Amino acid sequence: ASVFAGIAQAPEDPILGVTVAFNKDPNPNKVNLGVGAYRTEEGKPLVLNVVRRAEQMLINDPTRYKEYLPITGLAEFNKLSAKLIFGADSPAILENRVATVQCLSGTGSLRVGGEFLARHYHEHTVYIPQPTWGNHPKVFTLAGLKDVRYYRYYDPATRGLDFKGLLEDLGSAPNGAIVLIHACAHNPTGVDPTLDQWEQIRQLMRSKSLLPFFDSAYQGFASGSLDKDAQSVRMFVADGGELLMAQSYAKNMGMYGERVGALSIVCRSADVASRVESQLKLVIRPMYSSPPLHGPSVVATILKDSEMFKEWTVELKAMADRIISMRQQLFDALKARGTPGDWSHIIKQIGMFTFTGLTSEQVAFMRQEYHIYMTSDGRISMAGLNAKNVPILADAIHAAVT
Ligand code: PMP
Repeated sequence: ASVFAGIAQAPEDPILGVTVAFNKDPNPNKVNLGVGAYRTEEGKPLVLNVVRRAEQMLINDPTRYKEYLPITGLAEFNKLSAKLIFGADSPAILENRVATVQCLSGTGSLRVGGEFLARHYHEHTVYIPQPTWGNHPKVFTLAGLKDVRYYRYYDPATRGLDFKGLLEDLGSAPNGAIVLIHACAHNPTGVDPTLDQWEQIRQLMRSKSLLPFFDSAYQGFASGSLDKDAQSVRMFVADGGELLMAQSYAKNMGMYGERVGALSIVCRSADVASRVESQLKLVIRPMYSSPPLHGPSVVATILKDSEMFKEWTVELKAMADRIISMRQQLFDALKARGTPGDWSHIIKQIGMFTFTGLTSEQVAFMRQEYHIYMTSDGRISMAGLNAKNVPILADAIHAAVT
């Protein structure tokens, strides 16, 4: 008998499991709105032109080797990534008080940051929004931050921000607690604070020395502007305080499977930042030694060349704009059907997802009857929609709620 005979079958991941179920469905008209990846109007994955171009340049360069990167990754990529999120003229960068390490996309950055905090930060309580990306609590718990708590974020009644609840919960958090913040395009709700609300959140957090841990998985993908989507983060950097930043190039450069990301820790001084970096190396070395080479080389090639950077922003904006237009098309389709209820949140919410407000029963009905797949919390990926499947989805929602 197997020495593993007693092992129980583990459940599928609640998000990735949607695609597993979708792939098993033989219906030719099936629609996958569970996956958090961009699709073209033709329903195909997209590799950006500028990425293809950068890859070609790298392949044709005979001076490039496959040597190991240092533990902290590609230095040029790290510098450019910090500039991208904090802004080229950020005082924290000019004063050399940002420690940046290349990590395995957003998830790896969160994990390394979490483990660093578990080892070196006095407070192990981390607050995450209710709801949030389902991986957050698991990543932090396994990183050693055992006390994961929720702060109120989403109000189902308004399908908007529960700002009062958020301020109350952060207001009663223990001083120094870590607070996970979605920099923009909150997943799964698509609900972001206004700049005015961000400022109030900042003041409250700084007054209680709550430590911000920003998760930036959608910079540029929400509004189409890289700078606009970084405004929340830059407010917190501008006050001179400290914070952590997990960056992902999965969505905004379409680098999903290449696992390109960075963790930055903004410190009060260059001296502290240098010691922080030395400790980050001790977290990373026994975990995976050093990060991959190809992805960050592509990203750095694009970020450092002004013409390629420009081309990227145009392609990025085109993705953001297509998603925004899908919001309008879905909203119009429901209106045309006279579907009961207020669906204006579809056009108000931001980023890749709409938190529809559909119940898990309605979600199950739509899968059964219409072969439309989404997570059971009613979250749909707007990037999976196109002119062909919007009417199918609108019919399904109409049937589910009537
Ligand atoms: N944070 C949030 C909020 C996300 O939505 C995602 C991707 N779904 C990630 C982090 C991490 O993604 P990745 O590891 O692919 O960069």
